[in-house]
Amino acid sequence: MSEIFEGQCQCGEVQYRVSGESLTLFACHCHDCQRQSSSAFGMALWIRLQQMQLKTGQPKLWVRKMPSGREMECSFCPTCGTRLFHRLLGQTEIISIKPGTLNDTSSLQPVAHIWTSSVQPWLHLDEDCLHYTGNPDDFQTLFEAWKKNFAE
Ligand SMILES: [Zn+2]
Ligand SMILES: [Zn+2]
Repeated sequence: MSEIFEGQCQCGEVQYRVSGESLTLFACHCHDCQRQSSSAFGMALWIRLQQMQLKTGQPKLWVRKMPSGREMECSFCPTCGTRLFHRLLGQTEIISIKPGTLNDTSSLQPVAHIWTSSVQPWLHLDEDCLHYTGNPDDFQTLFEAWKKNFAE
């Protein structure tokens, strides 16, 4: 996905622009993502931090302590509460966009499903995707799968 794409929160106060190639896109079925998205699963579009540019608005930040002990900075619109970005503190290179906030969501087909151990029983996952019962050991496989999508 090499292009410029834009997104915003539900009320439009926070708007952002991303340029260049994204790293990967996956769906997470862990209980935290279910609660955060208030839905069946969460999605994550990973990009490099410097590819992201805020156009308007200033997201509010909340730091979440994860079971691993690491901390994740969560950005959301202070007015409508839409979650926009996630970033692991100490891992400043990558930022995860909540891709449902993009203006064009037509190319949001994930290459992997993670935490399938807590997937909703009615949800049928694409067999061609990578599947992980928990967190992947490393994300290199997910990067390569995403790249392959755009090679042809
Ligand atoms: Zn908003
Ligand atoms: Zn999750």
